[in-house]
Amino acid sequence: MLGLMTTAFAADEKSNDIVILYTNDVHCAVDDNIGSAGMAAYKKEMQAAYNYVALVDCGDSVQGDVIGTLSKGEYLVDIMNEVGYDFAAFGNHEFDYTLPQLQKLIDKAKYQYLCCNLTYTGKDGKGLTGYKAYEIKTYGDIKVAFVGIDTPESFTKSTPTYFQDANGNFVYSFAEGNKGADLYNKVQETVDAAKKDGATYVVALAHLGVDESSEPWRSTDLIANTTGIDALLDGHSHSTIAMELVKNKDGKEIPLSSTGTKLVNIGKLTISNGVFTTELVSDYAAKDDTADAFVKSIQEKNEALVNTVVARTSVDLTTKHSDGTRAIRNRETNLGDLCADAYRAVSGADIALVNGGGIRADIPAGDITYGQIIKVHPYGNALCVVEATGQEIIDALEWTARNTMSTYSDGENSVGEMGGFLQVSGLKYTIDTTVKSSAKGDDKSMFVSVDGAYRVKNVKVLKNGKNVDIDPKPTYTGFPQLYAQGFRRRHQYVRGQQAAAGFRHAGQSGPDQLHQGQPGRRRSRNLCCSAGPHHGHCHPVHRRARRQLGG
Ligand SMILES: [Zn+2]
Repeated sequence: MLGLMTTAFAADEKSNDIVILYTNDVHCAVDDNIGSAGMAAYKKEMQAAYNYVALVDCGDSVQGDVIGTLSKGEYLVDIMNEVGYDFAAFGNHEFDYTLPQLQKLIDKAKYQYLCCNLTYTGKDGKGLTGYKAYEIKTYGDIKVAFVGIDTPESFTKSTPTYFQDANGNFVYSFAEGNKGADLYNKVQETVDAAKKDGATYVVALAHLGVDESSEPWRSTDLIANTTGIDALLDGHSHSTIAMELVKNKDGKEIPLSSTGTKLVNIGKLTISNGVFTTELVSDYAAKDDTADAFVKSIQEKNEALVNTVVARTSVDLTTKHSDGTRAIRNRETNLGDLCADAYRAVSGADIALVNGGGIRADIPAGDITYGQIIKVHPYGNALCVVEATGQEIIDALEWTARNTMSTYSDGENSVGEMGGFLQVSGLKYTIDTTVKSSAKGDDKSMFVSVDGAYRVKNVKVLKNGKNVDIDPKPTYTGFPQLYAQGFRRRHQYVRGQQAAAGFRHAGQSGPDQLHQGQPGRRRSRNLCCSAGPHHGHCHPVHRRARRQLGG
């Protein structure tokens, strides 16, 4: 009896304010910073103080670490189910494991995925299902509509072919057209529909970001061009924004907030008597025991996968010189060769190109585990098969060798080396470091032209087992590796290389493709497994550079 009275008393004490907790760009950081168990503890703490508590995510949860890669996102959904999410917006990375796999994640989720601007436009009726444009929750006499919005950049910052049919035609739309207007209209339609449906308030769960490069699809652009959104919770640019007031189309100031990434902060939106306030909770140390045990059980399962032996090498596979200094960003190494060879092997392409900056760890002689391979390529890097002329390939090599052995830093790159330096397969080339490269880029490090002497020389391609001079005119299939989103700077940087090659994907045309395509992408984790011990071909790349170094 006394217990019952106490409970009733506590309930009376609870606030009727609505609290919406939010996360974004968790990128698999279930055990970093506040962590999933911390998130669960904070939610319980809020539920003890408030009658109405929701927990939502603004995308890019399932990708970014081994636990996501090995389970194709499923462990993350398991953990979000356990922590008790109500809604989640798609980010671009929710699409990374293919659309059929995303369907599996949607079906597995106990929370509702939301996205108002993804539409299946194909004719066979086999589009993604189970997600909604919006959903309304009732809190006392207030109805809050949650609207999901995902960046049209998802096409390129995931994998374009996932959104295409077998003939290379796009069968999905993110309302990307008309310089932002289609997205604004789609969101406006959805907000209006939610209001008509009885929503008192509308909270947008967006994965748009505020980066300049995301214009005209930034969250700020969207707010400025719509009405009726009462608060916008954002992701994608990994920005830490406690609360920024942005004027909407009516001139009304709307709170915009984003938590950064990897659960460094928990976002807290409070709706109190029609006033919307957002804030970030950081340095929260409490952990929920049940959620903590659950996360640990998942990590144990993951460990078993990580430790699975998938190959063996009889030699040390390295990114370094014999004196231990880094070599992978300005000359050939056996691990660079192995990666490039593996990509060529799985793709069947004529040539494979791998940027040295994406090869991040060594593998000592002995058994090779799954985990070691992922450490070599920790970024969820993407691959694509493209067609390029011989001249475009020569230009790509020139562009990425422009700093090799230079004695100056160009700001983004260290002296003498460059993350974009290409490790190759099916191809040989020499860099004459006595020639200063005349490759020109724009202010975004995008390739423009080569206006003078080439330092890249003697480019030869493998043909019927023989190395023959590359012909500038015909088309070769190549295999450059691209960074996935989340490593934006590098991504853009490598897009520069791609533009350098003017790579075109077969079956697609249009100038945008020069900068975008990641067609035919495969997960990097598939790649090295097909290759066994490998000593690397000793081809005469950088002969001169080597001589200069005395190495
Ligand atoms: Zn994103």
